[in-house]
Amino acid sequence: MLASIISIGDELVLGQTLDTNSAWLSQRLAAVGVDISSHHCVGDSQADIARVIRETSNVVDAIIVTGGLGPTDDDLTRQALADVLETPLELNQPWLDHVKAYFEKLGRVMPEKNQIQAMIPAGAKMLWNNNGTAAGIHATIAHRFDRTRPPRQVDVFVMPGVPKEMKGMFDRDVFPHLQSRGGGAVILQKMLHTFGVGESTVAEQLGDLMHRGRNPRVGTTVSGGIVSLRIGARYDNLAAAESQMLDTVQRCHAALGDLIFGEDTQSLHGVVGEMLKQSGETVAVAESCTGGLLAKYLTDLPGSSSYFQGGWLVYSNEMKAQELGVDPKLIEQQGAVSEPVAEALAKAARQRAGTDYALAVSGIAGPDGGTATKPVGTVCIALSHSRGTDVRTFVFPGDREMVRDRSAKMALTLLRYRLAGKSLPF
Ligand code: AMP
Ligand code: MG
Repeated sequence: MLASIISIGDELVLGQTLDTNSAWLSQRLAAVGVDISSHHCVGDSQADIARVIRETSNVVDAIIVTGGLGPTDDDLTRQALADVLETPLELNQPWLDHVKAYFEKLGRVMPEKNQIQAMIPAGAKMLWNNNGTAAGIHATIAHRFDRTRPPRQVDVFVMPGVPKEMKGMFDRDVFPHLQSRGGGAVILQKMLHTFGVGESTVAEQLGDLMHRGRNPRVGTTVSGGIVSLRIGARYDNLAAAESQMLDTVQRCHAALGDLIFGEDTQSLHGVVGEMLKQSGETVAVAESCTGGLLAKYLTDLPGSSSYFQGGWLVYSNEMKAQELGVDPKLIEQQGAVSEPVAEALAKAARQRAGTDYALAVSGIAGPDGGTATKPVGTVCIALSHSRGTDVRTFVFPGDREMVRDRSAKMALTLLRYRLAGKSLPF
């Protein structure tokens, strides 16, 4: 089954509001095996909306429209749909009564303008809106290209643009309908997340798993240094999709091992926080170039105070010496951005905070401060634990923000591996 999504609104075509409805709808539709032919974004013009509905109806089995159902003169989707259907708009009394009652409850009289929100093309079905005053519409366009065959039915669903109203209506009325028309095809999606190596290294390790003709299909995307595998399994029944998805997920795990830290909505700091909660251990930080970002990540999770004890922000050499007792001679000899200084910071932080672990970061976030031997992006990260100290130097690419973010994520990664009783594999 093939579908198109049409988003209506001047604010969308002008780039003032991001069209998030289409992305959300596409994901929902993919899950029930509906292929998306196209996304369209159309301004508040009755003629343009009618033209795009008409054109897409030549191609697809279902059209999902959002927006343009408000009470004002620039809300023209219902009129445009009536034009395509060549039917007049009719008043839907139950919805009008509902909207009037809604205003009465607020102690107000329904403004005359809202009456239009109860108008739907004759012959179409009204879709209830639990979260607003605009009713949705379900209409069918009958296409008869060939007189000898029955007409082809194109479902058109029109829903409000407000995401919350749209989502509620879609899940209750639209999704079940499309699911029953979807022919039982199932597309399952899964994400597996890695951090620490580049996209090409991940691809290399995955080998044939990334073959384009493969089902389930495995692709990669990168965001914030996190390389994620996107796995899509498309089968004609759920059981096959689930078992093949499981098989591919296992193969990805076998190929990448511990590089995979989590799946779907899991974040790196969330996974590390959960590991600390489970082990009942504690952590402290001593941060220089990340300026508190590592502490922020470690405290993003509710209940983080059970494992995060606190930390130090030591930028100047004096603070490193005063607050964490780092020998000024060591800083002078090795430089503040050096493995011995990072190690000294981590050890002192662990000792003074009385924690099981302490992470220390010292680096050059840029854009200035780089040298030939220590270019911008050079970051030393140390993790002190009961059996010693893991310390590594990295050179992260990118601007100041990227260097700081990758440093904090790498520090979390160092801790994640240590919590699993391992050292970094890269
Ligand atoms: P409308 O149904 O056209 O009156 O839209 C009401 C509001 O919903 C707009 O002002 C936008 O803020 C929001 N909206 C409409 N369409 C979209 C969309 N495709 N994605 C995200 N928000 C939207
Ligand atoms: Mg609008």
